Amino acid sequence: MDKLAQVKSEIAKAAEYCGRKADDVTLVAVSKTRPADEILPLLRAGHRVFGENRVQEAAEKFPALRERYPDLKLHLIGGLQTNKVREAVALFDVIESVDRVELAEKLAAEMKRQGRDLPCFVQVNTGEEPQKGGVSPRGAVALVDRCRKLGLNVVGLMCIPPADDEPSPHFAFLKKLARQAGVRELSMGMSADYPLAVQQGATFVRVGTALFGARDYSKK
Ligand SMILES: *Cc1c(COP(=O)(O)O)cnc(C)c1O
Repeated sequence: MDKLAQVKSEIAKAAEYCGRKADDVTLVAVSKTRPADEILPLLRAGHRVFGENRVQEAAEKFPALRERYPDLKLHLIGGLQTNKVREAVALFDVIESVDRVELAEKLAAEMKRQGRDLPCFVQVNTGEEPQKGGVSPRGAVALVDRCRKLGLNVVGLMCIPPADDEPSPHFAFLKKLARQAGVRELSMGMSADYPLAVQQGATFVRVGTALFGARDYSKK
């Protein structure tokens, strides 16, 4: 079985195990560092949802792919600098990494300017790691409220648990915060733990390595 079919079947199995429908979980294929010729086979197989963590890299690869597959959906899953907001709003379909008021303000203004209304996630730094993006858990609900007041279409929360931690408590915590904030979608789970995340309620899983193999950063 190819990797895409395998990941999809793992998602379905995990969903079924806890009485959820596989269709309620969207697989975001994380294509960072992968050239277009590694992304095309997934598009040909019917997959349409991709995640990139850098605006510049996505801008180099995705406009050409979108020309051939206009219905593809591109998620920004990495930190966004305010000076890249204009390009990001034009290029992406979903922003998963809203983590501060200043960014939310710029996004809201830019979406208005471009006439675009992108669904957004607030990223929460559930492990409170200093090197990681995301709002601190204490500030998550307030940031969601602030985003709403700015007119952003906040649909959910996103997290990246610390690499050395058991992920499940982080997933459960994110779900609790989402309930408090009144948002429905949960973007959580990567190659090492997406079945667990599905069991904890993930509606989006972001999977790279399990679909494409190990990343080679030395080539970049
Ligand atoms: C790279 C990345 C992923 C995918 O990680 P894998 O372990 O390769 O599945 C998911 N989410 C974010 C934010 C990433 O940067």
